[in-house]
Amino acid sequence: MAIEFTEKIRRIPVYPTAGGYSLGDEFAMLASNEAPFGPMPGVVEAATGAIQNANRYPDPSNLSLRRALAARFDFMPERIAIGAGSCDILLSAAEALLEPGAEVVYSWPSFSVYPQMAAATGARAVVVPLDEEDRYDLDAMLAEITAATRLVLLCNPNNPTGTALPLDAIEAFVAAVPRHVCVIVDQAYGEFSVLDDPDASVSLARRYPNVVLLRTFSKVYGLAGMRVGYALCGDERFRVAVEQVRQPFFCNAVGQAAAEAALLRQDVVTQRVEETVANRLEMEEGLREMGLKVAESQANFIWHSLGDGDEQEILDGLRERKVLIRSGGALGRAGWARTTIGTAAENRRFLAALRELVQQPV
Ligand SMILES: *Cc1c(COP(=O)(O)O)cnc(C)c1O
Repeated sequence: MAIEFTEKIRRIPVYPTAGGYSLGDEFAMLASNEAPFGPMPGVVEAATGAIQNANRYPDPSNLSLRRALAARFDFMPERIAIGAGSCDILLSAAEALLEPGAEVVYSWPSFSVYPQMAAATGARAVVVPLDEEDRYDLDAMLAEITAATRLVLLCNPNNPTGTALPLDAIEAFVAAVPRHVCVIVDQAYGEFSVLDDPDASVSLARRYPNVVLLRTFSKVYGLAGMRVGYALCGDERFRVAVEQVRQPFFCNAVGQAAAEAALLRQDVVTQRVEETVANRLEMEEGLREMGLKVAESQANFIWHSLGDGDEQEILDGLRERKVLIRSGGALGRAGWARTTIGTAAENRRFLAALRELVQQPV
């Protein structure tokens, strides 16, 4: 006899992890969209300060971090939700909004956590294919909204394709969505987009009570290991609801302190974005020179085809050359891959290794 699990345990897909999380420095780690840069100046000191008090529980209201975010975005602190990573907010939103009979709408390929939200709650996932340029197809999504829809997930820029929609398109969509439907705009990579000023979208959360802007310290801030995310909510009730379904101390004290210190360094955010965008252009050019298809990226990674060669052979070949990227097959499209933009040296290593492995189309 074995222990019996709930029915949802059979439904929930296993998250497609990258592999090689602890491989260390000799590898070019281009599989998880992390920042290649370490923590920002002042962050290690703040985290070290916070760990001195590790015998105490953290502030369950995360007030200090929420106030810092409120000042940064000129936004009401009571409408800012914190999470142990933004995935924590996504899964809590699923629990707060979804149940059997309810529907959640999103596009595919997109973030691997979204299918889990429906599976974990028994809601129906309404999955709309991306458009021909691998962007979210907002008209097609709008057509899928019914009286049963509770939640729409809009990943902008989209993971894994890197493509983004301009703010005016998102706003037109939000304006057309009924107010009982929560729209989460997942902006994990928002800082890297050059389509609009990343701060301009905050106006959506100011004007539409059903909008939630989901953001993270895991990407441009370089704190993926600290697990801190946040959401700017159109309505305070969203924050209250996601707090109701979680344990009281969901965000640890060291992470909160590190995030608050990182937030002070917007100058470093700007530098990192400039460097990433310059490297992105170089990498896109290198991939196109190999004859590969490249989706238009507004993020810190690139979605590209692998030519006519076998996907697994190419990934294995890259691994032998100490470069890790993410298989497209695992993310929703075989024969493609998602490659994170690393340091200039890592990117050159990746391009040189890939050049040896892809078959040139004739
Ligand atoms: C990386 C990522 C996140 C952030 O996850 P955290 O839990 O904050 O580390 C959220 N959404 C998308 C689409 C991502 O790619």
